[in-house]
Amino acid sequence: MKYQRAFNFSAGPANLPESVLEKVRDELLNYKGTGMSVMEMSHRSKPYDEIHANAIANLRKLLGISDQYEVLFLQGGASLQFAMVPMNLYIQGKPVDMVHTGNWTEMPIKELKKGFEMRSVYSGEVDKFAKIPTLLDSAFSPNASYAYLCSNNTIEGTQFKVFPKTGSVPLIADMSSDFLSKPFDMNQFGMVFAGAQKNLGPAGVTVVIIRKDLVERGSDKLPTMMQYRTHAKGDSRYNTPPSFGIYVCGLVLEWILEQGGLVGIEKQNEKKAQVLYTAIDESQGFYHCPVEKNSRSLMNVVWRIKPGSPDCEKLEEAFVKEAKAVGLSELKGHRLVGGLRASIYNAHPLEGTQALAEFMRGFMKKNS
Ligand SMILES: *Cc1c(COP(=O)(O)O)cnc(C)c1O
Repeated sequence: MKYQRAFNFSAGPANLPESVLEKVRDELLNYKGTGMSVMEMSHRSKPYDEIHANAIANLRKLLGISDQYEVLFLQGGASLQFAMVPMNLYIQGKPVDMVHTGNWTEMPIKELKKGFEMRSVYSGEVDKFAKIPTLLDSAFSPNASYAYLCSNNTIEGTQFKVFPKTGSVPLIADMSSDFLSKPFDMNQFGMVFAGAQKNLGPAGVTVVIIRKDLVERGSDKLPTMMQYRTHAKGDSRYNTPPSFGIYVCGLVLEWILEQGGLVGIEKQNEKKAQVLYTAIDESQGFYHCPVEKNSRSLMNVVWRIKPGSPDCEKLEEAFVKEAKAVGLSELKGHRLVGGLRASIYNAHPLEGTQALAEFMRGFMKKNS
C-alpha cells in the first residue's frame, strides 16, 4: 500500500482525503510563498483572511446557505454545543422538544436537566435505539423553545433519511457524524452543528450554522465566549480560532466540490455502505446488523458476529485482531454497545469497504 496507509475505520478522528493530506504536507513549511506555515501565521493576516473566507464561502456554496444564516467555526467540540444551545436558545416556560435516539442525544439531555424544561417527543430507549422513528409534524409542540435531534447516531448506527417539519419552532440538529455526507435543506433548520473530526477535517473545529434571529436570542449576560452573538460579530475570530484546523477543513471542502458536491458524495457513500450491508445480509446470520433496515446509517455500519451464541464475543475479538493484522484498522464497536463498527465517512475509500467485505467473507468461511 502507498505510504503503508491503513484502511482506517475509526469513528473519529477519522480518515481525511489523501490528496488533502498531500497538499497540507506540500504547504506545511511555506504556505504559498509566505515563508511560513499556516500554523505560524497571524489569524488576522491577509493570507489567513483568505483561507478563512474561502472555507466559509465553500461551505455556503455546498449547502446553498442563504444570508439569513451565520456560518461559525467554534471550539469545544460538538459537546460544548450540548450546553451552548440551551443557554442561548431556551425560552422560559417553553420546554425543549427532544427526539432521543441514542448516546449522542443522552448527552444534551443531561445538560438540559441542569435547569431547563424538556418534553420527550420520542425515546428509542425501549428498543435499544435500533431505529429512527417516523415523526409526524404534529408530534412537535408549537410552544417549544426549539426541537432537537441527532441526524446520525454514530454509536448505534442509525440515520435520519427524512427530517420532521417543525413549523415555526426552530429545528436543531447535531450532524457531527453525517455532515456534508449528502444534501439537505438548511432552510428546514434553525441551526445545525458538527464537530469536524468525522466528516470535515481535524479535531478542534466545530461548525455551527445558525439563523440570524437565533444568534440574537441569547442573553447578552451570558459569558462572552458562550454567546453565538460574539462569534457572529467577530467573524469567528473574537479570539484566536483553530486556524490550522480551519485551513484543513477548507481543503476538504474544496475536495468535496471536486467530487461533484454533496450529490456526488452521497452516491459514493451509498455505494460504500451497500458493500458492507450486503456482506452482512448475505452471511445467513453469521453477521447480524441490529438496526432496522430503513434506519441504517451510511456512515457507521454496526454489526455482531453470531449474537446470542457463546462464541459471539470471542469471535468479535478475533475479528478485530485479525483484521488489524491485514491493515483494516479500528473495527471495534463503541464500548457502550460492543460488537463491531466500521465508520466509513466521506473520505473513506471504496477500496477500504471492498477489502473489509472480502475479509468478512474469509473470516466467516474459517469460523462457521
Ligand atoms: C463524536 C460526536 C459528538 C462529540 O463530539 P466532540 O467533538 O467529541 O464533542 C457529538 N455528537 C455526535 C453525533 C458525534 O458523533
